[in-house]
Amino acid sequence: MIIRVSRDRLDQVLSLLDKSRVPFRTVRIYNEDLIVTWPDAKVDDKAIKAIDPNAVIIEVKAKYQLASNKWRGRTVIDVNGVRVGGSEVVVAAGPCAVESYEQVRETAVAVKEAGARMLRGGAFKPRTSPYSFQGLGVEGLKILRKVGDEVGLPVVSEVMDTRMVGTVAEYVDVLQIGARNAQNFDLLREVGRTGKPVLLKRGLGNTVEEWLQAAEYVMLEGDGNVILCERGIRTFEHSTRFTLDIGAVVVAKQLTHLPICVDPSHPAGKREYVIPMALAAIAAGADMLLVEVHPRPWEALSDAEQQLTFDMFRELMSKAREVARAIGRSL
Ligand code: PEP
Ligand code: MN
Repeated sequence: MIIRVSRDRLDQVLSLLDKSRVPFRTVRIYNEDLIVTWPDAKVDDKAIKAIDPNAVIIEVKAKYQLASNKWRGRTVIDVNGVRVGGSEVVVAAGPCAVESYEQVRETAVAVKEAGARMLRGGAFKPRTSPYSFQGLGVEGLKILRKVGDEVGLPVVSEVMDTRMVGTVAEYVDVLQIGARNAQNFDLLREVGRTGKPVLLKRGLGNTVEEWLQAAEYVMLEGDGNVILCERGIRTFEHSTRFTLDIGAVVVAKQLTHLPICVDPSHPAGKREYVIPMALAAIAAGADMLLVEVHPRPWEALSDAEQQLTFDMFRELMSKAREVARAIGRSL
């Protein structure tokens, strides 16, 4: 349950819960103090109302509570002035990995010109093979931050390790949790403690319910700025790199108040597939896209086959604008 009580009755309600052995946690989120009890706990509504007649007790009936839309309308997340989850569909674009200042700068200028509102770029790369390019690390974050500031785009980059959360948070506007860390619960808690916007990828093998519970870990730390990102799941189908689960976007939009992002690049695996998948995502209700773009994709140090050229990105943006308009949104 999610319980709202007036500030002057809070202590009394907490001691009642303590006495009744109800497991709970107080969370300050969206500028208000809430009591969150464990989902299966038996709470004596009447006793709480006796202490505070104005108390609001919301039963969510799901494994996640703060992430549910049973207690709150759509959340709009402000990323340095860029609003994610409102009527505008926000596009974040940039290279898979930060490779050099010039590469990021060139890309940032091109994607901004085409209408992107955020810059992406991995500095810590979760690579399947330890022999593959692992990213430039902190050097990469510095490049991303510098270019973001020069060009005027907020930046998003992945953090893979709890020990690096503080450092990555210093440089980026949005902390990305990769698909492979989607259930790294310590990492989720740690990014939640920063209070910063978090882009939470869905794990390759996670259900929608598991994905929302991952968001719950971040939110229980008081961070309500979670953007959920569908990026394709593992299925028997190998004609695409992963199976983009459009249905999950539709379902998640009906279960949570959090904004939903779609990354069409990683499920596509091939740049030829990215644009139609991006358009489908917007049509399905995605609030944001995360797209890989590289000045010369064929020379990229990671994900060379799926990164878009600047021309393709411009084509994506102009088509995406029309799809957004068709469903009453802007881009
Ligand atoms: C990425 O977006 O850089 C990335 C590695 O994606 P994922 O975690 O979804 O594979
Ligand atoms: Mn990539």
